[in-house]
Amino acid sequence: MLRHLRPRADSGTGDSAVTHVERMPARAGVTAEWPRWVPEELRDTLTRRGVAAPWQHQARAAELAYDGHHVVVATGTASGKSLAYQLPALSRLLADPRATVLYLAPTKALAADQLRAVDGLALSGVRPAAYDGDTPRTEREWIRQHSRFVLTNPDMLHHSILPGHARWAGFLRRLAFVVVDECHTYRGVFGSHVAHVLRRLRRQVARYGRTPVFVLASATSGDPAAAAGRLIGLPVEAVVEDTSPRGGVTFALWEPPLLPADRPDGDGVVVPATRRPALREGDGRPADGDEPAPDAIRRSALRETADLLADAVAAGVRTLAFVRSRKGAEVVATMARRSLDEAVPGLGDRVAAYRAGYLKEERRSLERALLDGELLGLASTNALELGVDLIGLDAVLICGYPGTRASLWQQAGRAGRAGGEALAVLVARDDPLDTYLVHHPEAVFGRPVESTVLDPSNPYVLGPQLCCAAVEAPLTPADLELFGPGANDAVTALVEAGALRQRPTGWYWRHSGRPEVDLRGTGGAPLCVVESATGRLLGTVDPASAHFLVHPGAVYLHQGVSYVVDELDLDDACALVHAEEPDWSTHARDVTSLSVVSVRSYVDAGPVGLFLGEVDVTSQVVSYQRRRIGSGEVIDTRPLDLPTRELRTVAVWFTLSPPALAAAGVDVADIPGALHAAEHAAIGLLPLVATCDRWDIGGLSTAAHADTEAPTVFVYDGHPGGAGFAERAYGTAASWLRATRDAIAGCRCETGCPSCVQSPKCGNGNNPLAKAEAVKVLDVVLAHLPE
Ligand SMILES: [Zn+2]
Ligand SMILES: [Zn+2]
Repeated sequence: MLRHLRPRADSGTGDSAVTHVERMPARAGVTAEWPRWVPEELRDTLTRRGVAAPWQHQARAAELAYDGHHVVVATGTASGKSLAYQLPALSRLLADPRATVLYLAPTKALAADQLRAVDGLALSGVRPAAYDGDTPRTEREWIRQHSRFVLTNPDMLHHSILPGHARWAGFLRRLAFVVVDECHTYRGVFGSHVAHVLRRLRRQVARYGRTPVFVLASATSGDPAAAAGRLIGLPVEAVVEDTSPRGGVTFALWEPPLLPADRPDGDGVVVPATRRPALREGDGRPADGDEPAPDAIRRSALRETADLLADAVAAGVRTLAFVRSRKGAEVVATMARRSLDEAVPGLGDRVAAYRAGYLKEERRSLERALLDGELLGLASTNALELGVDLIGLDAVLICGYPGTRASLWQQAGRAGRAGGEALAVLVARDDPLDTYLVHHPEAVFGRPVESTVLDPSNPYVLGPQLCCAAVEAPLTPADLELFGPGANDAVTALVEAGALRQRPTGWYWRHSGRPEVDLRGTGGAPLCVVESATGRLLGTVDPASAHFLVHPGAVYLHQGVSYVVDELDLDDACALVHAEEPDWSTHARDVTSLSVVSVRSYVDAGPVGLFLGEVDVTSQVVSYQRRRIGSGEVIDTRPLDLPTRELRTVAVWFTLSPPALAAAGVDVADIPGALHAAEHAAIGLLPLVATCDRWDIGGLSTAAHADTEAPTVFVYDGHPGGAGFAERAYGTAASWLRATRDAIAGCRCETGCPSCVQSPKCGNGNNPLAKAEAVKVLDVVLAHLPE
């Protein structure tokens, strides 16, 4: 397949698919002595299992933890992070027959993998056990009484262990270590909730007189000590130097070639040119993110990936292709199989698709087949990203930037075996961020990975979490310190709202039941999607996107099957659907207004202003378009009658003075299109600085806003109370907007395309957009904004 890595001509555009090749040399491992305190039983068992000595980073993290320091080990895929927490935790369990350890993983599958690993060591008296939603009631009591290494997840800790802490008293009273695995996955609103669940755990354990040591494991991330510290609320030391060995990797950035210009466009979209005063991005997340845009001008990333996969398999190279959606993975596998079978009948059988929905046995057998070489090519969603030991491959293809450099390295890290050479290829999708990255290799290779963003002070998270804590034990003034600076105000508000009552001994929960708090929820209970004919529950939709995804007439995709929505019952929180496969897709449109509630912080840069603050976003889904599948042709636009929705959240916004825009050569008539285009690209590039994806973010641009009295672009967190993304954007505004500007200017399309200023979730059908003027707008902002 390496023949592809030479620049190639195509479509007569002189465009080379490979935009950059980075060579990452092999690295020899550095081992350390076993820490003195590791008991012989453990050392012998590990040695028998092939661990002759720990890598230096494992030993360092283990020493810190054993000494009582909270520590995060943030190193690459397959660098042996497990041993870093197993050493101190298991050593303590062997040395102190009363001590216990609590292990938290973001998924049940990962906890199950860890259980297998610890179980396999067969250490005396440890009795590891998984405690999750599937654990039979009959076993739970035994686990509470006898297991000294309990593996669970934050949801279980929140819903079961902490509320029932009295039954866990024996375990918590002896708790020595808390292991938080894959802690970089606790980000955004979910991460903010988990941060408080861990504070609740610390509070309960402290009531039993213990202060356990936290050992966290993270994928490589920016400033892991700060992120881990924010997560657990305590100072954390970081071990970041990876001393495990790895093979050399050649990493190529790949941009699919432009389609020939005379390609029938098929996109007869006529959008009524109603220029609304404000242009806003809907939450209409398409069911499948890999669908090529109707106005694509490049070969699709799926097709390119399938071709590369087929080439690799034909050459006998063991290759894993990461594709963002399940359907995309199936498509890549099918296309690769087809072209292999055309070349050599039967060769297609050596390619398969892998997805999270498979049963455990099916997954294991696919993994084994790939490791044995029986299977040569596997197309997968990122289901593999967590906790599966599939490493040492010859090549990894990454179809579309996975959203963060941290994930990128995690996926690429599957390639490379000791002593061998491996290949990784990032295939750009039709998207501003992907386009920017393949043309700015320094943004991929030269930069630390992004920080994990979470915001425990989000009042929408803090308030409900304080209620949960109050049910577990009345809150005291000392507790409020534990929950952070916003806790005092939050408690006052909860007393006023009648949720808590203040007594001399603290704040008490006033109600009989427990508050309903979903760690992974985003603003309220999810809506059920039900098939009317059978009453079968197909899935759930979070309330923020329900109006977009399951409005009457919407086409709803579920596991590759198409349904049409008959009725959206907002009172009963359910959508009734029937199976139907029409030859159109649906795209909801909304109107939105935004008002500024308060300004938290701002930068006055003359004609340019940059702000961070609270905003109220009011939106209403008013209509939807039906578009022909394949051509993207708009069949019609139908009105909808849905109520408005309100969102109080955090936004970052910038303003420009009209004279500065005029001086930069932006015509008054082009201002709305210029701001709108800049806003789209800015949202697309935000994941460069924060661990969000563009679906976590909303935006609104306007040539004149009532509150700012100036041309303004707003970018806001799509979650009630904010999730830390806007705050991060404000803090890194100059580099974020510089990258946005370069992404637009660097795109070779003429008037804007999905690779630069068009957005797949635009509430206004990508109209108006003024690409060249957007660059001018950003130039004005960057000329005045301090770096
Ligand atoms: Zn473009
Ligand atoms: Zn838009």
